[in-house]
Amino acid sequence: MSKFSNEKINKLSAYVPGEQPKDKKYIKLNTNESPFPPSPLAVRLAKKELKKVRLYPDPDCSELISEIAKTVGVKSENVIVSNGSDEVLNFAFIAYADENTPAIFPDISYGFYKVFAGVNGVPYEEIALKDDFSLDISDYEGKKGVVFIANPNAPTGLEISLEDIEKLLSSNPERVVVIDEAYVDFGGISATSLIEKYDNLLVTQTFSKSRSMAGARLGFGVASEKIIEDLKKVKYSTNPYNVNRVTAVMGVGALRDSEYFSKNVNAIINNRAYTIEELSKLGFTCTNSKTNFVFAKCDKISGEELYLKLKDKGILVRHFNKDRISDYIRVTVGSLAEMKAFVTAVQEILGAKI
Ligand code: PMP
Repeated sequence: MSKFSNEKINKLSAYVPGEQPKDKKYIKLNTNESPFPPSPLAVRLAKKELKKVRLYPDPDCSELISEIAKTVGVKSENVIVSNGSDEVLNFAFIAYADENTPAIFPDISYGFYKVFAGVNGVPYEEIALKDDFSLDISDYEGKKGVVFIANPNAPTGLEISLEDIEKLLSSNPERVVVIDEAYVDFGGISATSLIEKYDNLLVTQTFSKSRSMAGARLGFGVASEKIIEDLKKVKYSTNPYNVNRVTAVMGVGALRDSEYFSKNVNAIINNRAYTIEELSKLGFTCTNSKTNFVFAKCDKISGEELYLKLKDKGILVRHFNKDRISDYIRVTVGSLAEMKAFVTAVQEILGAKI
């Protein structure tokens, strides 16, 4: 810290992204990226667009927004795009939470919510998930704050129903409810269909996972026109050109290439089933993940030891040194070859322990 930093920054614990070690080549199953390249159409459009980076991008991202609206089945007025979905989540903190309106989210969820609260100087309340990591929606009903729920949740992989989301929305009509659907494409059910009925709903999604564009940074929010107006006000007050022109055309290409998208999503769903089955044979307990990761624990080895031994073998997974989940590892679902290598490594590690 410099001697100049203010109290808010001094007190802040920044988000710690999954490690990206450069000492050797790893099988990288720690940050929920896609193992597949982005859509060839997206890449073709990006190459052409590169020649135009002399010019600022369209701050409205009209073409991209219209393509997202078409894909989701809403109007363009219901969509905002952002630099990764992290940015639109932050916009929601800026627009709706304040000293008197805390952010509310589960105790085991996306670690960035706490950081967004800190950097925006707003209080937050964490509500404990049940022992089996399920979420009891009645814990949130009538709470006076902005609720953030990742659905499916990370790192547990578990989903809540649309009925539960509706209960929450109708119990809290004066407050915004944010449903973070970063992983929804891998088998979850989207709440975007509810935005017409509930003007307090904001749904966020990302191109980082199912559309293989984590490095391009593209996310979006879907909500009532009024909420989108609020969020655009924040965008135009912080970074009007938040989505660069190469990323914007890649987004359009990725959405138009729906066959490629479905093929990759199906491959991940199949590889997830393979991984869960193989881990179960080895004595692991896995949650019923609806995401592109598996959340698993085994009585024979601690989460930390398994993470370290896998790292020694050149496989990176994520371990959280956190109460209630320190026994677990979170493993991104990669290609089938990667998952086979992962399973073999786990077998060797457990074999060596017996
Ligand atoms: N929400 C959740 C639950 C996530 O796990 C992530 C990825 N780390 C994000 C949002 C943000 O992803 P991105 O900014 O890449 O869209």
